[in-house]
Amino acid sequence: MSTLTLTPRPRVTDRLATLPVAIIGAGPVGLAAAAHLADLGIAFTVLEAASGPAAAVEKWGHTRLFSAWREVVDPVARRLLEATGWTMPAEGRAPTGRELVDAYLRPLAELPEIAAHIRYGARVTGIAREGMDRTRSADRENTPFLVRTPKGELLARAVLDASGTYDSPNSLLSTGLPTIDDARISHALPDVLGRERDRFAGRHTVVVGAGHSAANTLISLVRLQRDAPGTRITWLIRNAGAVRVSSSADDELVGRAQLGARVDRYVEDGAVEKIDSFEIGGVEALPDGIRLLGTRRGERDAVTADVVVNATGFRPDLAPLREIRTDLDAVVEAPRLLAPLIDPNAHSCGTVEPHGFRELTHPEHGFFVVGMKSYGRAPTFLLATGYEQVRSIAAWLAGDLASASRVELALPATGVCSTDAGGCC
Ligand SMILES: Cc1cc2nc3c(=O)[nH]c(=O)nc-3n(C[C@H](O)[C@H](O)[C@H](O)COP(=O)(O)OP(=O)(O)OC[C@H]3O[C@@H](n4cnc5c(N)ncnc54)[C@H](O)[C@@H]3O)c2cc1C
Repeated sequence: MSTLTLTPRPRVTDRLATLPVAIIGAGPVGLAAAAHLADLGIAFTVLEAASGPAAAVEKWGHTRLFSAWREVVDPVARRLLEATGWTMPAEGRAPTGRELVDAYLRPLAELPEIAAHIRYGARVTGIAREGMDRTRSADRENTPFLVRTPKGELLARAVLDASGTYDSPNSLLSTGLPTIDDARISHALPDVLGRERDRFAGRHTVVVGAGHSAANTLISLVRLQRDAPGTRITWLIRNAGAVRVSSSADDELVGRAQLGARVDRYVEDGAVEKIDSFEIGGVEALPDGIRLLGTRRGERDAVTADVVVNATGFRPDLAPLREIRTDLDAVVEAPRLLAPLIDPNAHSCGTVEPHGFRELTHPEHGFFVVGMKSYGRAPTFLLATGYEQVRSIAAWLAGDLASASRVELALPATGVCSTDAGGCC
C-alpha cells in the first residue's frame, strides 16, 4: 500500500511575506509609492486602469498647476531618476499637467525597476481578503488581500489605493444624487482653448461650481469669447458667494487670490454672468440644449445652455472597497483620523498638516487609501502631502516604525501653490 505524503501548507504569515504590495493607480502618488517600495527592496505591483501612466493628469494636461516643479517631484523618485541622468526642470516654474507627465511621471514609470511591475489596462473592480468577505474575522490579518481586475486576480500582502477621484465627479444636483448622462454635460476642466474649442466657440456655456476648476474654465472661456463672437458664459453657484474662489487680499495663497480677482473682474465687466444662490434640483435634455431646473431665493428658476460644465468637485469611488473594513469620516469620506486635519471649512491646501501611516490607518490591517482619494470629498490635497503619506507607509511596510512615525515634510507657511494659473484646492 502506498503512503500519501502531504506537503504542509505554508503558514499564512510566510505566504504573506512572499506576496507583493498592490498599488492601485499609476498617478503621481501611486508612482511615488512604487519608487519608495523599489528603493526599499519591497516587491510591488501597480495596477493601472488606463493604457499608460498618469491618465488623470493627462486629462487635465492643458491646465497649469499652482505648484512649482520643486513641490511636485517626490524626493525618492527624483533620486532614482537622477541616477539615470535625468535632470530636474526649472525648480521655481509651475508646469502644466502635460509637462508634469512628459518631463517627470512618464520617465518615472519607465524606470526599469518600476516599469517591470506596472500592469496597464487593469482597472481594479474589487478588493477583499482571500476567501473572506467583510464579516469574517478569524485570522483576517494573516490572510492575503485579493485584488480583482478584468484581467484576473492578484494576491497581495498590503494594498495602497492611489486611484484618485478624477473619474468620479460630484453630481450637478444639490442633493448629490445622480442625474442624466448627456454628451452636452462636460467633465470639469475641458480643454476650451484647444482640443474642445468647437464645443464652446459661439455657444452658451454654464459653468457650475465655486472652486478653482470652475475659475480656470471661466478664464479660458473669456479668452475664447474674445476670438469667437457669440460665446456666452454663465457662472452658476449654489451659495451667495464663491467661497473657494476667494479674491480677498489676505488670502494666504497669492496665486489663488489673483485667480479669484480675475473672475471677479470678468463678472464686473459683464463678460461672465454670475447667478448665485441657485440650487439645482433637476437636469433636462432638450433637443437644442440642456436645462438646469432649480430654486433661487425660494422661487422656481431655470437656466438653459448649449453646454454645461460640471465643476462641482470630486468624490471617492468607494464601491471597490465594499468587502474591506474601512473607517471613514461621515462627512468628507476620508479616514477618520485624517478628516479633522483636512476639513475644507477649516483648512486650505496650504494649512493641512503633513501626516503619515497612523492617520491613514483603517481597521483593515495593511490597507491604505493614499493620494487625492485619501482626502475623500475635501478639495485641499497637495502632491507634497501625498508623497509624505507614501514615504511613511513604505517605511511602515519595511518595519521601520521610527521612520514611519516621523514627519519629514515641512510645508512652507504660504503653502505650495505659487502661481496664478489655477488648479489645486
Ligand atoms: C487641475 C488640477 C490642478 C492641480 N494642481 C495641483 C498643484 O498645483 N499642486 C498640487 O500639489 N496638487 C494639484 N492638484 C491636486 C492633485 O495633486 C492631483 O489631483 C493629482 O493628480 C493627484 O494624484 P493621485 O496620484 O492621488 O491621483 P490621480 O492623478 O487621479 O491618479 C489616479 C490614477 O489611478 C488610475 N485609476 C483610477 N481608478 C482606478 C482603478 N479602479 N483601478 C486602477 N487604476 C485606477 C487613474 O487612471 C490614474 O492614473 C491638482 C488637481 C487638478 C485636478
